[in-house]
Order: sequence, then C-alpha cells, then structure tokens
Amino acid sequence: MRIPFIAGNWKMNTTVSEAAELVKEMRQGLDAIAGVEKAVCPPFISLEAVRRIIEGSSIKLGAQNLYFEEKGAYTGEISPSMLSDTCEFVIIGHSERRQYFGETGKVVNKKIQAALRVGLKPILCVGEKLEENEAGRTEKVIVEQLRSSLFGIGAVDDLIIAYEPIWAIGTGRAATGEQANETISFIRHNVAKLYDEDIAQRMRVLYGGSVNAANAAEFLSQPEIDGALVGGASLKASEFISIVKQASEIRQAR
Ligand code: PEP
Repeated sequence: MRIPFIAGNWKMNTTVSEAAELVKEMRQGLDAIAGVEKAVCPPFISLEAVRRIIEGSSIKLGAQNLYFEEKGAYTGEISPSMLSDTCEFVIIGHSERRQYFGETGKVVNKKIQAALRVGLKPILCVGEKLEENEAGRTEKVIVEQLRSSLFGIGAVDDLIIAYEPIWAIGTGRAATGEQANETISFIRHNVAKLYDEDIAQRMRVLYGGSVNAANAAEFLSQPEIDGALVGGASLKASEFISIVKQASEIRQAR
C-alpha cells in the first residue's frame, strides 16, 4: 500500500520568523498523526530555521525550486547540493514556475535529473490550463509533460508526481474527487508505459488545487490519489493538521 503524502507549499509567503512560528504551531499536532508522510516547503530563506524546529519530529522538509547547475555564476540561484543537506524533497515544475518564469519541459527535466543526482526527492507538478481542459486536451497535455519531464530519467523510485490542474490552483475552484482520480489513474497508466507497472503502482501521485480541510476527504478517499500538495491551506496550522489527520483516518479505514 502506498503511504499517503501531504506536502504544504508555502509559496512566497512567510518571513523567517513567521515560518518558524507556523511550523512550531504545526509540530505537535502533526507528530500525533501516524501513517502519513508530511512535509512543509517554506521559502529558501526559511529552510534552515524550519529545519532546526522540526529536528526529531515526523515533519519533513522540502524546497520549492532549485537550479540544475551545481555551482558558478548564476546570480540568485540555489544549487541541488545547497539543498540536499537541509531538505529531503523539492517541488519541480510547479505551474507558477512554468507560467511566470518560463520553465519549459526541458528545464524541468534538467532540474529533476539534478535533484536525483544529489538524493533529493522531486515532487514533479503536472497539470493543464483551463482552456486546455475545456478543449478536451487534458490527457494530451499531461502525456507531453510527463514525457518531457522524465526524458532519459531511469531511476524514478524517489519521484512523486502532483497532478495540479492550473485552473484549480489558488482559485478556490477545486476539481471533483472523481475528475482528479480519473486523471491520476491516467497519469499512473502513462508512468507504466514509460517505465513498468511495478514502478507505476509504487509511485505516489498527489492531487493539488484548492485543497482545504473542508474538501480534503473528497480527494483523499479516492483510490488513485495518494495525498495532496496543499498551497493556501498549508499556511494555517489547524487546516494543514486537519488535512493530514483526514489522510490518516482514511488510510486506517482501508
Ligand atoms: C499549490 O501551490 O501547489 C497549490 C495547489 O495551491 P492551492 O492549494 O492554494 O490551490
């Protein structure tokens, strides 16, 4: 059985002291919940402060991005090995990076390779735009994103995929549980085509897009959905803890 995974993407929110406060508020509540892997992904500048607070707890740490080069004249960038001491996970290919920072499939592919090289576990985000969804192109877009992101990548056991329909991110307009489950099943089918059925069955595929404490169970109770990548609702300790708790209860009931 795949262990549920809930990750909070704090995006460009929280100062260092706010990040420290937020994770302090979460620590006890999250530690009391068994059977779910949990991670928070604060901004780069807060990683070290958050790492110190979660030391010895069940909370894991992720970054929101990295650059694929190891070192050198890349002003403002953060390399894989700068993160690998501090983090276990890294979000790659988030739609906001594709949309605002021009990240292409080729860049996403290089970033995944760079993360895996230093032992970071990538959380690869894929998902279609509203117009693509409305034109019935969701599957085509996802196949293309999976192919380009995973091109030439052999070892994918440490990879997690997050299906995030762009029209559902930060909009308050989540997909339905059935819609998300269907697309995630399609993603798993394509992972099996790219690799094999065993790898596809082991791989965790999350849903992301306006998940909150009120709608989490709708997604987490679907058979193909292995957890959630949570944006806005991960900035409130009680909401995030409630989502993780629901994931644990649903898993125990299975
Ligand atoms: C995200 O940032 O990955 C996300 C899903 O955001 P939100 O939950 O706010 O829609």
